[in-house]
Amino acid sequence: MSIFNNDNFDSHELVTFHEDSATGLKAVIAVHDSTLGPAMGGCRMYPYATELDAVTDVLRLSQGMTYKNSLAGLPIGGGKAVIIGNPKQATPELWKAMGRFVHRLNGQYITAEDSGTSVAAMKLIASQTPFVTGVCDDQAHAGDPSPSTALGVFNSMKVAVQQRFDQQHLSGLVVGIQGFGNVGRHLCRLLIESGVEVIGADPNEDNADQARAMGAKVVDPAMLMSLDMDVFAPCAMGAVLNANSVPNLKAGLVCGAANNQLATPGVEELLAARDILYAPDFAINSGGIIDAFSQYAPDAKIDVAGKISAIGATLTEVYELANEQNILAGAAAIKLAKRRIEEAK
Ligand code: NAD
Repeated sequence: MSIFNNDNFDSHELVTFHEDSATGLKAVIAVHDSTLGPAMGGCRMYPYATELDAVTDVLRLSQGMTYKNSLAGLPIGGGKAVIIGNPKQATPELWKAMGRFVHRLNGQYITAEDSGTSVAAMKLIASQTPFVTGVCDDQAHAGDPSPSTALGVFNSMKVAVQQRFDQQHLSGLVVGIQGFGNVGRHLCRLLIESGVEVIGADPNEDNADQARAMGAKVVDPAMLMSLDMDVFAPCAMGAVLNANSVPNLKAGLVCGAANNQLATPGVEELLAARDILYAPDFAINSGGIIDAFSQYAPDAKIDVAGKISAIGATLTEVYELANEQNILAGAAAIKLAKRRIEEAK
């Protein structure tokens, strides 16, 4: 397996591997860029088919965190961790071994929740290292950054809907949510409260049932992306927008929480050719990291609510730059993020 030639290597500052035979932990931590501060980003646990899949995922995710943290105006760099395995089989000992792995980096990387991990898992990590966030009990949602992520996506959807449909409210729209997990469920509630018709899918029956109870129409996961809808909101795994799926997508806008929704950056051109506007994931799903940073560094006293509302304004800036320079939104968002990092240098 080549790391340096991996398309997503992009001069990462650090990529480190760890295996703990006693607990079965196999994990990779990647730090992409620490110009703005120590790297912060979630820890994902997933049963990757190959080790290369895991490495590619962690590299793409940590690069995305660099851009996300920069656009959110946070004093932190981009990093991410992945654990290869089925989260249902994770033991407390495995999470503690992960905590020791994080600790070895002495604060270069600060971990948090992501897909397949939980507040309980982070608390076990926190028993081994202080370099973890999303474990703060005194918040309304007890450390879980997902409601903040959902709120940021919801605010951004209003901006993107205005841009695409020239409409100032969400009421009456049909939004398709892929994944009613930690973020998708909260987004579902916010949208239904705003008069949106939510259709959606989740192979996890419990999560699908919770969405159904809120008033969402639940469909087969394999069908969702080809149904008529105004907005498609991916809130499950990455790479769901690709050369196979985009030609069948009937939405006018893609705006969701999932990281790395585009299988490759070129997929945004396929979306644009079909007049489907894209809200770049890393520009709009930063509510969770804003929340996580405030838990980690309470002395920084950041205005969490203000920063989450500002995500919509950042998306407006992204669309303005894209229009000005006749480029797509994804490229415009990366330009804005890199500008801030260059200024810091
Ligand atoms: P989660 O694991 O809680 O939820 C994901 C849900 O997607 C699960 O219910 C799962 O069953 C479902 N799912 C899996 N495959 C599916 C499919 N083919 N069709 C429909 N549903 C499917 O994860 P989460 O924390 O809600 O995060 C969702 C996405 O948002 C991830 O890509 C994550 O990286 C990203 N994200 C999360 C946060 C956060 O605060 N949790 C922040 C930023 C980005």
